[in-house]
Amino acid sequence: MKVSKAAVLSLLAMASSLSSQQVKSVMNNEGRFRKDIILPIKSGQSDTYIPVTIIKGKEKGPVFSIVAGIHGYEYPPVIAVQELLREISPESVRGTLIIIPIANIEAFKKRTPFISPLDQKNLNNAFPGSPDGSPTEQIAHLITKEVISNSDIFLDIHGGDASEDLMPFVCYYNRSDAPEQTASAYELSVQSQIPYVVSYPYTITGKEPAKYAFKQAVQQGITALSIEAGKLGNVQEDQVALIKNAVYRMLEHSGIYTFKKYTDKETSKVTLLNRQEYIRVPQSGIFYSRFKSGDTVKKNQTLGFITDEFGTRKQDIIAPADGIILYKIGTPPVNQGETLFCIGYNQ
Ligand SMILES: [Zn+2]
Repeated sequence: MKVSKAAVLSLLAMASSLSSQQVKSVMNNEGRFRKDIILPIKSGQSDTYIPVTIIKGKEKGPVFSIVAGIHGYEYPPVIAVQELLREISPESVRGTLIIIPIANIEAFKKRTPFISPLDQKNLNNAFPGSPDGSPTEQIAHLITKEVISNSDIFLDIHGGDASEDLMPFVCYYNRSDAPEQTASAYELSVQSQIPYVVSYPYTITGKEPAKYAFKQAVQQGITALSIEAGKLGNVQEDQVALIKNAVYRMLEHSGIYTFKKYTDKETSKVTLLNRQEYIRVPQSGIFYSRFKSGDTVKKNQTLGFITDEFGTRKQDIIAPADGIILYKIGTPPVNQGETLFCIGYNQ
């Protein structure tokens, strides 16, 4: 059979649009299923991929997406999602779950904090990404296009990275021109049973790059939030359990997870922290502090100090506000301009 050039071209166009909407085409399949797929990434530098699991229930319902491992050294989110993948079956789902178990697979494999070893870029600074950019920019682009754009609710799970001492909290953007999505993100945060709920100001326009994954989702008008739990490059079992409990409660609250055995009826009291003060590292050196994440601080209190390599005390670190330490650098080396402390409070 002779195939016309036009037919070949249209077949090629179809194939490329299929590969660029892989998640959507799996989601459109009928019936109840789980499918694990690979989104390949090709770049001049090196090839990589994004693993994606799609779990679809028989009944119609919302699309809830869960991403872990945007930072590959943040292990409690990664391990919590591994356990969720083993526990959740299509039989217990109404609607669809899209799960990226490890978004930054090269950082995970190479044990690289913050950035990708392929291009030295921070995936959580790369959104919306670019289809023909570096590997990190392509990962951001595929998450934006394949996952965020197909979601009703988008949850990005992080923790303290290798050098970060962090207390667990759940957070969302207070986007005043999208009151419904903001209210729904707040409601899911409260349902998570994580005691501290942090709200960030949302000030970007529709044209500015959102940079962060869940801010990208907020910019696209999707209900989005993030959990932060675990710290300092370790797997803390209690933080894994906290993340799983929070996710199950959010899924149940959204009507997606139909088994109730993981949650109790208790509604917990949450503390809302709607303001943040960041202390930047004033000069590079060696950092000392007796304070830990979760400690409360008073304005003008000395939180620690920085020395040079000769042991000479160069600079004291002073609290700019009353509040609670959400996260801080928890290891000795500090570099000028890095976030040394993030202090949360309510106003
Ligand atoms: Zn992170």
